[in-house]
Amino acid sequence: MTRVRAADAALCPACSSPVADDPRFTTWCPSCEWNLDPSPAPGPAASDREQRRADRRRRRDEAARRTVRTRVERVYAAVAADRSAVRDPAWLGANALAGAVHLTTLCLAACALGLLVAAPTWPLRVLGLFVAALVHSLRPRLGRLPRNTVRLYRGDAPELFALTDRVAEALGGRPVDVVLVTAEFNAGFGRIGLRRRNVLRLGLPLWAVLAPGRRLALLGHELGHQVNGDSRRGLWLRSALAALDEWEELTRPALYRQSFGTFVELAASAALQLLLRPVNLAARALLGLLERLTLRTGQAAEYRADRLAADLAGTEAGLGLLRTLMLRATVDTTLLRMRAERGRRARRTGTGTGTHTGAAAVPATGPWEELAAQLTDVPALERERRLRLSAREFGTVDRSHPPTHLRLAMLEALPPTAARLQADVADWAAIDAELAPAARQVAADLELGH
Ligand SMILES: [Zn+2]
Ligand SMILES: [Zn+2]
Repeated sequence: MTRVRAADAALCPACSSPVADDPRFTTWCPSCEWNLDPSPAPGPAASDREQRRADRRRRRDEAARRTVRTRVERVYAAVAADRSAVRDPAWLGANALAGAVHLTTLCLAACALGLLVAAPTWPLRVLGLFVAALVHSLRPRLGRLPRNTVRLYRGDAPELFALTDRVAEALGGRPVDVVLVTAEFNAGFGRIGLRRRNVLRLGLPLWAVLAPGRRLALLGHELGHQVNGDSRRGLWLRSALAALDEWEELTRPALYRQSFGTFVELAASAALQLLLRPVNLAARALLGLLERLTLRTGQAAEYRADRLAADLAGTEAGLGLLRTLMLRATVDTTLLRMRAERGRRARRTGTGTGTHTGAAAVPATGPWEELAAQLTDVPALERERRLRLSAREFGTVDRSHPPTHLRLAMLEALPPTAARLQADVADWAAIDAELAPAARQVAADLELGH
């Protein structure tokens, strides 16, 4: 672990070690971890009974978190020792389970059709309609491009696509068809629609704060999802999960609970709940099982994507990307602060006589350059705090990816490699220019315009 130096000495109230005191960030103690997580503890409960209930819930959550931690650590150990198969028995089980879910939907569809076409009485035909509606909500979905997101096609950003083509080729994957520019501190890759177009999601708040090598690592990780054996993203498993989710939602007891009405209505509602409860419990159990069965292959696939990224952009860039990913909360607060500042500035210049004489206060750089500059300024102690928080909190957040501190440890354990692919300054400048209109649009959506 990196040693951190306390710049402006203040003393820890718990162990009297020096702590750094930067007003922009949380003051905490690297020796005893005092104030590592400054979010307030839950207040005292109103009654003893509520207190007991809260304690029980806390114990249950803690136990669930411990189970997830154990499993996640086991996957880490297996991948680190090179013992993780792309197809293991759990993977087979998950696919068989998904098959059973699809078969159920298919049977229901046949049942609906039979009732609608050949039912002798109208109540049965109504039942047929009801089943058809159920099948409609359970059907596998191919996904659709979101409406209110900036889309870039090959012609809009030739240099960006040339780079993603090079990355795809180096990894042995297929080229990107559409780039979606979003306002998230995230990126992603997936196949959408009947034509299974390859869609890359690029979140500008993340892209903007990454140095060129790290951007390449990000592209490597995302496009690496095509070749890392991540079955969870395939249509078979994904649509089974979606169907189970739908079953769970449709049979949730709270949906049909009635607190007043005639005796008959209340009795009908109670009977319906009694009928639906087992279906709901079964859907929940199957969802949990499917998640458990795919955790191993899914997380192993993420480590593999990280390795592909490091192999492509160099280990240093791969590690840098992961370290940046840990700064999500810092990016969120910085964006909030920037938005507030811009709001204040707009009010100050807007309340005049309508002339633009107050515009001198506007900074020369755009919002994304400002965000990037703020992020390079994050002190080592704050980065260290985020790393330790990731280690402390894991088991509760984002099950799709392994916790960042483990992803870092995995890469750090590998022999370092140099970048296999590079883009020069002119390429990056051209890509920035191509992304500029999208960047302005996303900045406006986040109210970060000047
Ligand atoms: Zn301390
Ligand atoms: Zn990933």
